[in-house]
Amino acid sequence: MTLPHTGRALADAAPVPYWLDRPDRPDPLPPLAGPHQADLLIVGGGYAGLWTALLAKEARPDRDVLLVEAGTCGWAASGRNGGFCAASLTHGLANGVDRFPGEIAELDRLGRENLDAIAATVARHGIDCDFVRSGELAVAVEPYQLAGLAADAELGRRYGHDVHLLDRDEVRAEVHSPTYLGGLWDRDRVALLDPARLAWGLRRAALDLGVRIHEHTRVTGLARDGGALRATTAGGPDAAPGAVRARQVALATNAFPPLLRRLRAWLVPVYDYALMTEPLTPAQRDAIGWANRQGLADTGNQFHYYRITADGRILFGGYDAVYHYGNRMAPSLEQRAATFTALADHFFTTFPQLAGLRFSHRWGGVIDTCTRFCAFFGTGYQGRLAYAAGFTGLGVGATRFGARVMLDLLGGEETPLTRLDLVRRKPLPFPPEPVRAAGIHLTRWSLARADAHEGRRNLWLRTLDRLGLGFDS
Ligand SMILES: Cc1cc2nc3c(=O)[nH]c(=O)nc-3n(C[C@H](O)[C@H](O)[C@H](O)COP(=O)(O)OP(=O)(O)OC[C@H]3O[C@@H](n4cnc5c(N)ncnc54)[C@H](O)[C@@H]3O)c2cc1C
Repeated sequence: MTLPHTGRALADAAPVPYWLDRPDRPDPLPPLAGPHQADLLIVGGGYAGLWTALLAKEARPDRDVLLVEAGTCGWAASGRNGGFCAASLTHGLANGVDRFPGEIAELDRLGRENLDAIAATVARHGIDCDFVRSGELAVAVEPYQLAGLAADAELGRRYGHDVHLLDRDEVRAEVHSPTYLGGLWDRDRVALLDPARLAWGLRRAALDLGVRIHEHTRVTGLARDGGALRATTAGGPDAAPGAVRARQVALATNAFPPLLRRLRAWLVPVYDYALMTEPLTPAQRDAIGWANRQGLADTGNQFHYYRITADGRILFGGYDAVYHYGNRMAPSLEQRAATFTALADHFFTTFPQLAGLRFSHRWGGVIDTCTRFCAFFGTGYQGRLAYAAGFTGLGVGATRFGARVMLDLLGGEETPLTRLDLVRRKPLPFPPEPVRAAGIHLTRWSLARADAHEGRRNLWLRTLDRLGLGFDS
């Protein structure tokens, strides 16, 4: 049911990501043209590529590093996400325990170390991205979800996490929503940040260390070239075609059509959507509490994530996760009226006291979903190329870890990271079309049904669970 004020609230929302719609967005760097050489070529200027560039230079300042980006750095998922920077490398502890029981303690420790290192880098390079370690509050909005929170609390405590179960009154005292029945506050394993400013800050830091970056430069093909690799780049209205001969290549292209064919079986692009409100007035802030500014998420299969920005807006996203036949991606798919209406309705159901508040921005973006919900890694061209992909909606923090893994893989020596099962094992592949689309739609339908029926999973979901297959955002 559409609430009466939903239409008005969305009427003036700009169809662009709030984070990228800023006057201080950096000017684009010139496209690459003609022949070039590099020790390390990085393809993709989202977090994964930018972290790879920065870490490569920090480790070996003499290494000649060149990064090419098809658009501008951070224009895609990295500049338009919710800004939840989680310690988890496994899309949550429970998923990690299920899939990597033998090494989850180590992965949990590495994830914590990774988040600490992100905080330290932000401070060291003076990256102005509103990085605040305010934690995450998971809320139950249906009675059956309370048992899930209790189980997660128990699991978190077993791994030494600073987690606190809140009953109905306690959670509503934190954040005033009539829908909350209980909560689980993880106090320090999630930071909130301004996603585009993190990307722009990493780009600035990489440039300062001498990384060469070319924007509006799409790599169209890779091939062997003697003892090196050769990447060809498309020309555009302002650029001639170019080529880079590089000793090594790091592929950080997320959900985009991969340059290594075999990656297609493991990845599907899934559209996720978000709304941003206008800044709240002091009276509206008082009406919702939320003084501790945690990141919030509800706990159905189709979940919402929401948070406050530095200038007092609320970002509200999630719920729908939309796949298009044949891995289709297109700018037009970043807008979806039905999803925005549903999100706005859910927002005012969560915070009825904010009726009358308007949304300033609405947008969507693509997530690189894989069947195990956390990144996978590998090499190609006899170890001259490394890739990291499949972050599945939780890549803000994990991409830095992915960058470390790619650099270790390119180093060619076994390291504590390359020995991990997480790094050596691949997810189960998605089937080819048309079974791929049919399977994803059946799974989404089943997940929505489970949400409507106290979390009960039907035969299809139970079969997928047994096979270790799934679909998430
Ligand atoms: C709406 C939304 C909300 C999200 N919320 C969160 C969140 O709160 N927390 C969280 O942890 N994660 C979240 N995510 C996921 C997170 O944003 C991603 O996991 C992360 O940004 C992935 O970084 P990346 O560098 O791998 O990919 P991207 O940022 O997508 O970067 C890949 C880059 O590669 C470039 N590229 C692709 N092909 C080529 C080519 N051939 N040549 C040159 N360049 C190429 C693209 O132009 C792109 O810029 C969200 C994602 C979306 C879409």
